[in-house]
Amino acid sequence: MHSVEQRVQQACRKADRARDSVKIIAVSKTMPLNAIEEAYAAGQRHFAENYAQEALAKQSSAQLEQLDWHFIGPLQSNKCKPVAQTMDWVQTVDRIKIAQRLSTYRPQEMAPLKVLIQVNISQDSAKAGVSLAAVPSLAAEIQRLPNLQLRGLMAITANGLSNDLLRADFTALKACQTTLESDYPECTECSMGMSSDYELAIDCGATMVRVGRDIFGARNTHL
Ligand SMILES: *Cc1c(COP(=O)(O)O)cnc(C)c1O
Repeated sequence: MHSVEQRVQQACRKADRARDSVKIIAVSKTMPLNAIEEAYAAGQRHFAENYAQEALAKQSSAQLEQLDWHFIGPLQSNKCKPVAQTMDWVQTVDRIKIAQRLSTYRPQEMAPLKVLIQVNISQDSAKAGVSLAAVPSLAAEIQRLPNLQLRGLMAITANGLSNDLLRADFTALKACQTTLESDYPECTECSMGMSSDYELAIDCGATMVRVGRDIFGARNTHL
């Protein structure tokens, strides 16, 4: 955690950005609860999970206050209810049907669920997400849903891209998010960059970096 924080600070300095313009999202999928508690004790407050079942199990046993949970996995219709009831953020909205279900199931007494539209920035057929061109229409539809608050964009880049191609993708996502923000001022978030490339993402304007292995160590599964 400490070295990730230092690298984020350094990347912010290099890019002439304030440290508080970037949130570190600790991706805790497959990691045990005590790893989350340890990161929490070190000051980490945003955690992300990919699987609804796993997220629910951790949330119900974690006795941690003031922690923001992000859902960053593929979201099937039948998982929208538990996700809407427990998460603070869903970063992987890429269809209006999923957004509608999340809004329907979000309990009235909770704050609106914060969502990001997932963009398939590298146009990789193996990755979820809408095209850049489809962002404005999906954003307009999400805006009409009562229990969601659209906050920006998220992307997972294709594997194995060169730094030049990564920079091109990150820059394109940031440009799209900036345009969106001019229409909807709350759309301030641009979630991009993982363990292998978060410094580059910060240089390109990321406001959230999703870091798993660099915080928690290698995952001993294919995930
Ligand atoms: C697993 C995952 C990450 C974190 O990946 P690392 O390489 O461990 O940093 C980030 N974003 C998404 C969507 C993921 O599934």
